[in-house]
Amino acid sequence: MNFTYYMPVRVVAGEDCVQKNAALFAPFGTRALIVTGKSSAKNGALEDIFRVLRQNGQEFAVFNEIEANPSVATVQKGGLFARSFGADFIVAAGGGSPMDAAKAIALCARQDVADIFSHPIGEDVLPMIHIPTTAGTGSEVTQYSILTDDVSQTKRSIAAPQLFPKIAFLDGKYMEDLPQSVTVNTALDAVSHAVEGMLSVRANLFSDALARESLRLLFGEYSALRAGVYARADRQMLLYGAALAGMVIANTGTTPVHGMGYSLTYFRGVPHGRANGLLLPAFLEACKGKVPRRVSAICEALGMDLPAFSQKVDDLIGPRDVYSEAELRDYAARAAKNRNVKNYLAEFSEEELFEVLCRSVGG
Ligand code: NAP
Ligand code: FE
Repeated sequence: MNFTYYMPVRVVAGEDCVQKNAALFAPFGTRALIVTGKSSAKNGALEDIFRVLRQNGQEFAVFNEIEANPSVATVQKGGLFARSFGADFIVAAGGGSPMDAAKAIALCARQDVADIFSHPIGEDVLPMIHIPTTAGTGSEVTQYSILTDDVSQTKRSIAAPQLFPKIAFLDGKYMEDLPQSVTVNTALDAVSHAVEGMLSVRANLFSDALARESLRLLFGEYSALRAGVYARADRQMLLYGAALAGMVIANTGTTPVHGMGYSLTYFRGVPHGRANGLLLPAFLEACKGKVPRRVSAICEALGMDLPAFSQKVDDLIGPRDVYSEAELRDYAARAAKNRNVKNYLAEFSEEELFEVLCRSVGG
């Protein structure tokens, strides 16, 4: 088997890893732009970053306007802010939204970008340090920035090796007050990354090993996820599991689950991870006839068969959202155009996408 596996992010993990590693921030320059949302001011992440930067004598400014599913307008504003501040580097703290936005801001700060989705991504971007405060997207170890595109009415990604953060700090302590709904949704996103990675045309021995270990860690936390009660060690394990799944998709990309999920998020505001969780069981069921050996490998990694997996996901998701046939036809047509479909190991037609959508969230 011939393959390439690439992972350029230095991962530093453990309790108080930010404070204990101030020296790692020092070489990045003298002026830091902190890109974040609103919660980092309450969960301790911002305070830790301030302390470390002050200790190093580094100047900083905060851009805390990142919304969920960040828009192009927000990252362009952030890019201008970074320029006017004269940032040397970016520290991103938050869930996938601030972490993804930071990558686009790092680009806009250094390159004149008219249309971010068609702009060829040059080498010159601000270097980044990422600190996740949700355990799901794995954005801290990926080269993807997923933004809301109001022109094509979907979420689209920009991707380039230079968008990998240089360092990811993983500390579960920031997630102590993460709401249960966000904890479950983000965990489902991570599960989806690991599973979809195993269904990608780019799946390989390394990505499979990471995906299997990710699923083991994430499902090891299933009782905590069900109960909604988390010790610090549970938070840390969810964070590791999600980062491993991020390392999977950094190399494999995602599949039609993400492609379909984007419409649920764009048109109905369904959180990203929940959208994937709603669709994943029916998608896997449909994969059985197409790539049976891969589905068996996934079940083996999960330690359960598909009905048991569906039940577990269902129990986490709760009552399902319901959509009209017309909406689902539209979502299927949109998903069929998404490049994630080509990333899947077999053909998956628009009609089949529609069927998965109907089984998942049909009336
Ligand atoms: P999110 O949108 O970043 O955060 C969800 C909510 O949780 C926000 O209200 C956020 O508030 C809050 N929050 C975050 N951390 C918290 C904490 N420690 N305590 C309390 N509240 C907290 O959600 P996400 O699921 O992590 O990220 C989703 C985004 O990532 C989507 O745009 C998705 O497309 C993208 N994504 C990217 C990749 C990739 O490879 N790059 C992969 C999958 C998904 P504030 O933001 O105001 O702080
Ligand atoms: Fe995702």
